[in-house]
Amino acid sequence: MAHDSHGRTIDYLRISVTDRCNLRCVYCMPPEGVEWKSWEDILTFEEIERFASIAVKHGIGKIRLTGGEPLVRKGLVDHVRRLKAITGLESIALTTNAILLPKYAEQLRDAGLSRVNISLDSLDADVYEKMTRGGRLQDALDGLDAALAVGFKPVKLNVVVVRSLEQDLAAFAKLANERPIHVRFIEYMPVGEAVAVGARGHQGAWTEADHMPADEIIEGLDRALAAQGLGPLEAVHKGDGPEGWGPARYFTLPGAVGTVGVISPLSRHFCGECNRLRLTADGRVRPCLFSDTEFDARNVLREGTDQEVSEVILAALAGKPEAPEQRRGTTRRMSQIGG
Ligand code: SAM
Ligand code: SF4
Repeated sequence: MAHDSHGRTIDYLRISVTDRCNLRCVYCMPPEGVEWKSWEDILTFEEIERFASIAVKHGIGKIRLTGGEPLVRKGLVDHVRRLKAITGLESIALTTNAILLPKYAEQLRDAGLSRVNISLDSLDADVYEKMTRGGRLQDALDGLDAALAVGFKPVKLNVVVVRSLEQDLAAFAKLANERPIHVRFIEYMPVGEAVAVGARGHQGAWTEADHMPADEIIEGLDRALAAQGLGPLEAVHKGDGPEGWGPARYFTLPGAVGTVGVISPLSRHFCGECNRLRLTADGRVRPCLFSDTEFDARNVLREGTDQEVSEVILAALAGKPEAPEQRRGTTRRMSQIGG
């Protein structure tokens, strides 16, 4: 088991396999997109697999592949298969916008992927198109269907709540009533340079006004459901919730097959329970989402020994801050860090 210098067990690694994406979500990327890293800057799958197998020796048991959009990188299914073969690794999960899941869900399951989290911020086609700057809701819903059809369990739906976009959150609770999905409303986080330079609103700039705290999300959802004769939401006790509970609090409607939850990185941050390291697509180990401190693993993966790679992992563990820095914004955007 790996521990950081604050006594936390670190057993979870998020790996960004690409900084590229087939969408341009307003809270993640600027309208013009970001300049992609060149292929030489991005870790090869072999380099990621080497890093992962060394990280597993240091106590990492769970890996999540993310991006950018991980499914746009060619060869991902075989990458999952090779990661799955690492002795000691318990599970591999994927965070995706689901657009390419109809094509890959079955192959991913057969390659050994355990779970998927799908990012889908609105069930209204117009709002979805606006939030993703051009995405088609039906494509994401087809991806959700594909994930359920091939038997991924649990399937979690990530919904970033942006106040000025007025998403209909009750529609998600109703979906979780009928389908075995676990919806997690996520507070909009101030990540990326747009935070510092953007104008108000949903043009890619985080503002305090657009951040809705988790308690308000749940209260508003309860009210909206009551107005439709549904609810009240009941808290789900740990143990009865979805596998890989993570930092969410979950609720359910009486008789529902799924759940709704909230993740509150800002209003009630969960640093005390943080169990993760991140590996960026360009090979930097990032101990904390909200801190720009990173440790270069790419050079040692290209030129160094396994011992040197271990030393980078140990330095990142030692460098994990106890709590987030008191500031808004990070140098790199979410699509570059991996969420
Ligand atoms: N493209 C994939 C997707 O969207 O699921 C994986 C990468 S994306 C960067 C990972 C997660 O970060 C998504 O669930 C996305 O909604 C979330 N995310 C991106 N920017 C965010 C922000 N500013 N605040 C909160 N969550 C954010
Ligand atoms: Fe792409 Fe995911 Fe960022 Fe949306 S949240 S732009 S799908 S990386």
